[in-house]
Amino acid sequence: MTGNVVLWDFDGTLAFRDGMWRGSLVEALTEVAPDHGVTRADLIPGLQDGFPWHRPDTGHPDLNTPDAWWDALLPLFTKAYVGAGIAAEPAARAARGVRARYTDATRWTVFPDTVAALAELSEAGWRHVVVSNHVPELDGLLRDLGLAGHFAALVNSSQIGWEKPNRRIFEVALERAGHPERVWMVGDNPVADIAGAQALGMPGILVSPAQNGLRPAVRRILTDG
Ligand SMILES: [Mg+2]
Repeated sequence: MTGNVVLWDFDGTLAFRDGMWRGSLVEALTEVAPDHGVTRADLIPGLQDGFPWHRPDTGHPDLNTPDAWWDALLPLFTKAYVGAGIAAEPAARAARGVRARYTDATRWTVFPDTVAALAELSEAGWRHVVVSNHVPELDGLLRDLGLAGHFAALVNSSQIGWEKPNRRIFEVALERAGHPERVWMVGDNPVADIAGAQALGMPGILVSPAQNGLRPAVRRILTDG
């Protein structure tokens, strides 16, 4: 691949999961203990640290299967439940249900102008690559959300073992994009997406799709080239 490529963050940029991680944990707990009384807010303290993307300096190539990746998160989920007042046994059981809840495509929503933005840039000769700190099932999510066909490649931190803003994930992205002549990174995280890309000399565009959509990013790419 040569030419023009846009690297896209996924979560919070192209689509979002209703309630995000906390929502998934509440739903998984409801399946185990319907009367739990735990709110999303109760889980905030327990989930502030411990995901792979909280340690971008450290790679995790050892978590090289989806099962290994999810198993490594079970202590974090269990601790978050216990911190919210749930007993250890139901907490551990609920933790095992988070994977199915988080990856349920019916709980994800594509932002209203995502498809239009991708299509408009494609028509202008830009190709698209997803570069995401995400769960191993992201390729299935993209497919189920009808987005897969827009992308030439998917670079998923859980599969390659490095998280944004670590330069290694961007190096893999550039490699898979065929070292394009023109490249932009678009994302909603100033550190992981924008600073991470800029460290490799790639311009970044910070977006807030829930506030004002992807139009400003599309306009800037088409204007600045
Ligand atoms: Mg994001």
